Amino acid sequence: MREIFVIIEDFGDGAWELAAAARSLGEARTTALVCGAAEENQQALAKLFDRVVVFPASADGNWDAEYIAACVLPRLLSEQPYLVLLLHSNNGLDLAPLLAAKSNRPMLADCLSLEVREPGLAAVRTTFGGKVRARIFAKESSAGYLATLRPGAFTTSAPVEGAGILEGATAPADYQPRRRCLQTLTPDAGAVDITQAAILVAVGRGIEEQENLEIVQSLAEALGGELACTRPVVDKKWLEKSRQVGTSGLTVKPKIYLAVGVSGSFQHLGGVKGKPYMIAINQDPAAPIFATADVGIIGDLFELVPLLEEKIRAHKS
Ligand SMILES: Cc1cc2nc3c(=O)[nH]c(=O)nc-3n(C[C@H](O)[C@H](O)[C@H](O)COP(=O)(O)OP(=O)(O)OC[C@H]3O[C@@H](n4cnc5c(N)ncnc54)[C@H](O)[C@@H]3O)c2cc1C
Repeated sequence: MREIFVIIEDFGDGAWELAAAARSLGEARTTALVCGAAEENQQALAKLFDRVVVFPASADGNWDAEYIAACVLPRLLSEQPYLVLLLHSNNGLDLAPLLAAKSNRPMLADCLSLEVREPGLAAVRTTFGGKVRARIFAKESSAGYLATLRPGAFTTSAPVEGAGILEGATAPADYQPRRRCLQTLTPDAGAVDITQAAILVAVGRGIEEQENLEIVQSLAEALGGELACTRPVVDKKWLEKSRQVGTSGLTVKPKIYLAVGVSGSFQHLGGVKGKPYMIAINQDPAAPIFATADVGIIGDLFELVPLLEEKIRAHKS
């Protein structure tokens, strides 16, 4: 049976997505490797994976890629799993190339899906700034493979369950930290706290002009939601930073996410957690947002947004 190792970064959606991705490759024994996990988090992981190997946390409790590599590398080299999975997050990208190089594994980055293609491994990812989806292949490797997964890309309705064996592991005795976390900065939530909103209407560069924001603001009000946006909208100073969703903005967990004129970059969708029901309006049928959206509406937002608002208001009354 195939062995698949995953490196755990968080105990919520990220862990679940890694487990779902491992299961998407057919029958496999899954092992989660984690540095520092409270008892309840260990139990949560045990429900998802066949084995959970728990190393002590780093000296300051923060993500230290060099420390994690020092912990997990001996396992990778001795147990030689077929595949190692990480999230394509800032932390995952800090660690993945280091692990790939030190364990001599080909690395497939930012994968939307994975497929065993004997004698190698294939993945689908976007390229050319998200305009094209490409299938990429890792050549046969006796050392196994390593892949990073785009957050939010792996979902399944099938139950993700593991045998749940917990195993304690020790930290490398000779490890000397070279990194120190000086400060963790949390983006200011501002006057409007989009992180708490159940319904978000996110607007992107497709809105063209600041004056046009009125139509999406009005739609958000009709839905009883808040207005959010992509980074270019903030860069142009059309909306305040406290409304920006993404890796350099805020992380949101709404129930409904309506994306209007948003292309769906990894950096934007990286801030959308909790698997909301996602509806996307975009005039480009090849826009990457459609790969993630539950409902995709291909068309001109300037026609569709007022129409949608009218229907919602009519339905409400
Ligand atoms: C280090 C770094 C961090 C970043 N952090 C973030 C972040 O936190 N959040 C973030 O959002 N981005 C972030 N970005 C930027 C990110 O890479 C993308 O450039 C950005 O998300 C794209 O924003 P957009 O979707 O509004 O614009 P575009 O990619 O330009 O997309 C606009 C979309 O609107 C559609 N459109 C145009 N006109 C219409 C119309 N009339 N009707 C319907 N659809 C229309 C187009 O088809 C297109 O898909 C970051 C980038 C870097 C390098």
